[in-house]
Amino acid sequence: MTRRDMIKAASGAAAATILGGIPLAAQGQDKPANSGGKRKILVIGAHPDDPETCAGGVMCLLTQAGHEVVCVYLTRGEAGIAGKSHDEAAAIRVIESERANAVVGTRHIFMSQVDGNTEVNLERYREMRELLEREKPDVVLTHWPVDSHRDHAACGLLVLDAWRRVGRTFELYYMEAMTGTQSQMFQPTDWVDITSVLEQKHRACRCHVSQGMDELLDGWHVPMERFRGLECRCQAAEAFAHHTVPGTI
Ligand SMILES: [Zn+2]
Repeated sequence: MTRRDMIKAASGAAAATILGGIPLAAQGQDKPANSGGKRKILVIGAHPDDPETCAGGVMCLLTQAGHEVVCVYLTRGEAGIAGKSHDEAAAIRVIESERANAVVGTRHIFMSQVDGNTEVNLERYREMRELLEREKPDVVLTHWPVDSHRDHAACGLLVLDAWRRVGRTFELYYMEAMTGTQSQMFQPTDWVDITSVLEQKHRACRCHVSQGMDELLDGWHVPMERFRGLECRCQAAEAFAHHTVPGTI
């Protein structure tokens, strides 16, 4: 085996062109044929900016292909701006989220939990299950539950429980958040080439001005996009873990 063959053999999987049964445009291709009809995808994050930073590229690809993408925020990011009260911070972050969703072309929903104080209990399980029963998504992306941020872990657990309770009526994927610092032991199963929509994704992320997004992009998200891109041989990628249950697929 030549060195070139070894490198080729050691490199990761090719970027996915299908996620949850939905065709995605690969870099350099035209829009994918929307053969399966319009599909609905929910991206459920703990805070404003989580869906955009973790899965903004996929969200842009899906909206471009004509699918309905809904951003769900568990909280309004109340504890996320130093020196501001919860109400003041929430008001700022709601506006930033509206701007980010306008860039991607998504609808958004705020749930009623509070940043830094998210709860996992019977009432919150019910609330998440009812949201999913109401929205009837085909695919859901949410936090990988093994995460050092309590709100991310809580969000992943609530969605996981709801998925089971509604009878796994949608495809469930986990997304990573600042892997190494927040997401731990994340094991992707699917990589999506987001090179063609990278500028749009970053523009949406930068709407979250209060979060010092330039620094977060340079320090975390762009290196992660490059690293996942290296794994699947493209310039920039997002990676996801598909939750499958042996014997049911
Ligand atoms: Zn977060």
